Amino acid sequence: MKVGVLALQGDIREHLRALEECGVDPISVRRTTEIESIDALILPGGESTTIAHLAQVFDVFDLIAERISAGMPVYGSCAGMILLADRIIDAAKEQKTFGGLDITVRRNAFGRQVDSFESDLVVAGITPAPMRAVFIRAPWVEEVGAGVQVLASVKGSDGTSHPVAVRQNGILATSFHPELTGDNRIHRYFIEQVCAGSPAFK
Ligand code: GLN
Repeated sequence: MKVGVLALQGDIREHLRALEECGVDPISVRRTTEIESIDALILPGGESTTIAHLAQVFDVFDLIAERISAGMPVYGSCAGMILLADRIIDAAKEQKTFGGLDITVRRNAFGRQVDSFESDLVVAGITPAPMRAVFIRAPWVEEVGAGVQVLASVKGSDGTSHPVAVRQNGILATSFHPELTGDNRIHRYFIEQVCAGSPAFK
């Protein structure tokens, strides 16, 4: 199984390292031939507007969107979650996403950079013992479609709880950055459950 990390902007190296620690030999991808060659993809944390813009510059935006809609397993952390969302609240002007995940995401929902925080989080079916979750100018999920499973939620400054980890078939997304903590349970789940369970691997 060939797993790519989209290498346009963001914490690419951290995702590569997490995958290596899970026994996968990942590749960085940014060109058409590279993206055509992979079986699964990770969209890193970073800046969703920059990543979307660079995907257009490298002329791979439509290819990535098509591969996701054709069922390629994909995991997005933070900016990666935004890039997977079908709908965005507080989007930048003309901000585009690859889409595929039937959620509405609120960008920078937890506040600005100074409002970044950490929390101990139980992610259903993945981390029965809580994991340290790092939120950096993170989005939260405002609405989920019928086919979307909510795996974890966190209370926002509005006093209500919002999903921060979701899965819809072959698409997994977290508002936080497991790639930054050395706790590889989310990556392992993506490889062993999401990718392995996908029709593309049968
Ligand atoms: N706020 C960023 C965005 O909108 C995401 C931040 C992150 O990935 N840590 O893309």
